[in-house]
Amino acid sequence: MRGEARGPRVLHAAAEIYPWVKTGGLGDVIAALPAALAAAGADVRLCLPGLPALLDAARGNEVVRLATPFAVERVRIGLARLPGGQPPAYIVDHPAFYDRPGGPYGGPDGEFPDNHRRFALLGWAAAALAEGADPRWRPHILHGHDWHAGLAPAYLKARGSAVPSVFTIHNLAYQGLFPAELFSDVALPAEFFGVEGIEFYGGLSLMKAGLFFADRLTTVSPTYAAEIQTPRYGANFDGLLRARAGVLRGILNGVDPKIWNPATDAALPQGYGVEDAAAGKAAAKAALQHRMGLVADPAAPLFATVTRLTPQKGMDLLLAALPGLIGLGAQFALLGNGDGNLEQGFAAAASEEPGRVAAALGYDEALARLIYAGADVITVPSRFEPCGLSQLYALRYGALPLVRRTGGLADTVVDATEAALADGTATGFAFDDESGEALLAAAERAVAVYRDPPRWREMVRRAMTRDFSWEAAAQGYLALYSELII
Ligand code: ADP
Repeated sequence: MRGEARGPRVLHAAAEIYPWVKTGGLGDVIAALPAALAAAGADVRLCLPGLPALLDAARGNEVVRLATPFAVERVRIGLARLPGGQPPAYIVDHPAFYDRPGGPYGGPDGEFPDNHRRFALLGWAAAALAEGADPRWRPHILHGHDWHAGLAPAYLKARGSAVPSVFTIHNLAYQGLFPAELFSDVALPAEFFGVEGIEFYGGLSLMKAGLFFADRLTTVSPTYAAEIQTPRYGANFDGLLRARAGVLRGILNGVDPKIWNPATDAALPQGYGVEDAAAGKAAAKAALQHRMGLVADPAAPLFATVTRLTPQKGMDLLLAALPGLIGLGAQFALLGNGDGNLEQGFAAAASEEPGRVAAALGYDEALARLIYAGADVITVPSRFEPCGLSQLYALRYGALPLVRRTGGLADTVVDATEAALADGTATGFAFDDESGEALLAAAERAVAVYRDPPRWREMVRRAMTRDFSWEAAAQGYLALYSELII
């Protein structure tokens, strides 16, 4: 009962929200978690930058105009109702910062040069709202997501606010780094620029602001929460995170069944559930093979990946394993974009193995969904993976994930060892070494099970019925909030 929420009032500050702004999993999480918290009884609002797509959806009624350190004119804060049952959203409507062509962080010429100020304003506005800028709604807790909202807890501290803050790490690799000379632009007291503050290796890091000043830290899987306290995965923050281990928690992301459901997904030729998965997936596989120019072979195990092409995602390992994979009689389809060398590598592989390897270089939500449905195996060989949503969508759509055992991939995929196959818990295939050989060895195991249809069907059934619910995640966050509200 949203109107009569008994739970805490929580303001979520973030840069992305699907379907309006999404560059990766963050957008999906912000579309789902606040709504799940509201459904669990919290009184939730969002604080979002007024990016063009959001302004098109809803500009909102003006609640206040804030005098800020970032502009001569006052900044309009609108309160909007986004379609789709989202909690109310404060839109920081400052066209000079946000109403630009391109993505949320950059345009055709690269990252926007004033990103520190653009996201300082987001954090600043969230802190102002936490401190009562809207007299009709004051949150108990400010919850910021990733570096874009990292300054919010710092502004609360600078204001001497009593409002506690939570900061969630969705990916520690994106650190919001800027040169030291830009510190004066973010309007924090001079003493905040230090080791005990937002200074990071001589520059400033908006991620560090969140990590250092928030009262509680979370990240999106238990394994990643442990990994980031080690030098290998800590991206130079491991020391700080070890020091703050007592307030750091890993809470697994969920899947929103309204958005990711093969029974209702309009991108698929034929909807399916657990009972008719074989027919639905066969239709999707045929459509996918046709669409991507792969040989129309229902018996060939179809491996696929939907990803940003960055070093994180380990797709160089997949390129190394690709000849061996094709040698097993498999097909491979990529949907991804990013790193130019990897794009070229996959384009070259596709032209060398026409009909067996295909690469769609771009971002395409509908094709992504067809791939989750039509593929037999979704390969996620990440070097590190905070949670990973792609393997969760794969499970739900009955494509078995083949993953490197790290972060959320380790927490969500049960490797098909002999024991796990025997006791009926296996949902995918996992490997450890960052190498093409290790990936290929796991792929060989996958193909062996694929050629044993009763076993494969059993794994698909189990994968599709695994429950990664946002309700469970919401309960984890509510427990954390209750520690902060005395
Ligand atoms: P990350 O957030 O690191 O990119 P996740 O696995 O958590 O990785 O989330 C990625 C999300 O973005 C998934 O919803 C995936 O389907 C989607 N995605 C990634 N690349 C593409 C693409 N090229 N086209 C369509 N969707 C994509």
